[in-house]
Formats: sequence, C-alpha cells, structure tokens
Amino acid sequence: MESKRDYYEVLGVDRGADQRTIKRAFLKLARSLHPDVNKEPDAEQRFKEVNEAYSVLSDERKRANYDQYGNPDGPGGFGSEYVDMSDIFGGGFGDIFDSFFGGGGGRGARAARTRGRDMGITLRISLAEAAAGCTKTIAYDRLSPCEDCNGSGTAEGGKETTCEHCHGTGRVVEVQRTIFGQMQSQTTCPVCNGSGRVVDQPCETCQGEGRTPSHETVKVNIPAGIHTGQSLRVESMGEAGVRGDASGDLVVTVQVLEDEKFERQGDDLYTVAHVDALDAILGTTYRMDGILPDDEISATIPQGCQYGQRISVPGMGMPSLQTGIRGDLIVVVQISTPTDLSKQQLELIRSVQRERTQAQGGARSQNAEPQAAGKNRDAGGQKRSKGAKRRGPFGKKR
Ligand SMILES: [Zn+2]
Ligand SMILES: [Zn+2]
Repeated sequence: MESKRDYYEVLGVDRGADQRTIKRAFLKLARSLHPDVNKEPDAEQRFKEVNEAYSVLSDERKRANYDQYGNPDGPGGFGSEYVDMSDIFGGGFGDIFDSFFGGGGGRGARAARTRGRDMGITLRISLAEAAAGCTKTIAYDRLSPCEDCNGSGTAEGGKETTCEHCHGTGRVVEVQRTIFGQMQSQTTCPVCNGSGRVVDQPCETCQGEGRTPSHETVKVNIPAGIHTGQSLRVESMGEAGVRGDASGDLVVTVQVLEDEKFERQGDDLYTVAHVDALDAILGTTYRMDGILPDDEISATIPQGCQYGQRISVPGMGMPSLQTGIRGDLIVVVQISTPTDLSKQQLELIRSVQRERTQAQGGARSQNAEPQAAGKNRDAGGQKRSKGAKRRGPFGKKR
C-alpha cells in the first residue's frame, strides 16, 4: 500500500480545527475537484483523497483514533465490518456528490426532485444475534440538513421567494416555429433548477441547497427472529430534501450470516452431533450449548441409534418473529468410530462379535479373522465420511 498523505494536510486545516472549519474546507475542495467540474487528470484521484480525509476527520471517533493511532479504526477496529456501505453509494462518496451537484438529474420537462431519496443499507448480523435480537449502531454517509442554515438554504437575513422566471412551477414552456407549425416543449426552469423557489442570499456552507454531506450514526433495534432479507425502516434518516423538503428514509436490510454450528430452516435449527459408536449402541445423553447464551441442550440418544438419525429437542430453535415461540432443534446424529481402544477393550468387543456370529449360525465366519475385519471397518468408515460431506449433514445441498 502506498503511504498516505496526512488527512489534515489533504484538507489544509490545522490539527485543532473544529468541525465547521473542516466541513467548509472539505466542501470547497470537493467543489473544485469534482470530476464533473475539474478536468485535470489527477482531479479524480485528489477528489477521492479529499473524501477519504473528510470521512475520517468529520467523524469524532475516527478522528480521535486517527490522532492517537494513525488509524481511523483504532488499534483493533470497532466492528464496522457489519455494515456494507457499497449498497448505499456504490462504494464511495461519488453518488452523494452527484446528487449534491445535481448531476444525473432528469432531462426535459420533469420537475426537479426536491424530496430526499430513501437510502438502503445492508446490515450483517450473526445467527445468535438474530435469535436473541440486538441493537446495532450504523454509521453511514448521507446528505443531511445543513446545520448552518437549518436546511433553509438561506444565509442569515436572506429569504426564499417564488422564482419569478417560472412563477414557481419549476418549468418553462418554450414555443418554437418549425415547418410543421408551432412546437411547444417544456423544460426545467434554468433559474431555480426546477424547484420553483429561489434564495436571495444562499447559505455559504451548502450554497443554497439546504443540505450537506455528513456522517450519521443511527441505532437500530433488530427484533429476535428476524430473517435474511427482512428490512427495517428508520424514518427521515435517508437523504435530506432540498431546502427543508422531506427527507427520505433509511432502509436497513438484514442479512443473517451463516453459523458454524447451526443451520436455520424456518424457525427450526439443525445441528450435527458426533456420537461415539459405543454410545450409539448403548444409548446416551448428548449435551451441548444452544443458540441463546442460557440454552442447555440435552438430547437423548436412544439405544441402537443409527447414523443420520434425527433427534428433536422441542423449543430450542429460533424464536418466531411474530409470536416469539421457539422452533425445534434437530440434532442429526453422526457416528464416530473410536480408534483409541485398548487391546483389552478390542478383545472384549471381539468376544461380543464372536458371540453374535455363533448366534447367527456361522454365517459371517469369513469376517471372524481379526485383521480382515479391521480392514473392512477402515474402508467402510472412509467411504461413509466422504459420502456425508457430499450430501451435507442435513441431506440438502450446502
Ligand atoms: Zn424557476
Ligand atoms: Zn446551509
């Protein structure tokens, strides 16, 4: 990785600069370097550099970490890996600026959009967090109402008035004479950019937009039992509207990560239990931790339990999002053949085997020879574990 320039140096501010100064410096640089405005070859690179510096210095926690450790994530990071930013801005500040600069706006007669857009974000949580419910803090970037003018877009003493050019409609009608006769076409008013309103003294910070790029943190309560793909709406925390118009919402879509131990199917959980072959023959109680911290699972493995047998433990699955009632935990038994038996133990088992062979009238006498029996067992064991991997322990493709 290339060595990075100091973030303060990039923005051209003192180390002790307050947020207002940092924001001003950033907006000024960002405007002059925006790829739509500045065609110098290194403009885009510098634009990215400025965005990165601002994204750190405008966030008090990241800035403190940067000052102390030279790393915005601090010595060990703070778990922001749960949030997938790429879904909001396609990986950077690029789009926030496109909307800030009015780039990519509709052509023709459509009135300019002044309401803020909804923003989407993906939040990844663990299966255990989905089971218990959790509160998550999400940090993200958005256009938020300008703090210096309270979103009005006007400087102190200034005011907003109806655009005289379009009489507040945001549209102007052009009449052209062509060989086919008169042609009327509507276009967006060039004076007010289609908003229908103008300000006589625009706020310096937001240049009359009433909104500026900023960092935001919101707390979201994730209810227990949530499934991947379900989303929560945080009202008015999306993109701010132009000059005080309504903000969009922040739509948080949850993705429940796969768990190493448990697999979810509806509200039921599946898990694999490795049971010793002798325990499977004689029966045993299998104990394990559940998905919730206080869960103590004990599954009764019956005498003569078979490979792949499913033991249901009621009420130890996931809670239903609607009712809170928990599904079942299904323990899928896999049998491990012990390989550490002593000579004495093997001899005891051999005597059992001999007894069974005699009882069956010598039908399995060709297996009575100890070495051959051992070989067969090995081969069988290997085949079995390969097959299990291919099928997946729960009989469905993974
Ligand atoms: Zn106008
Ligand atoms: Zn402002």
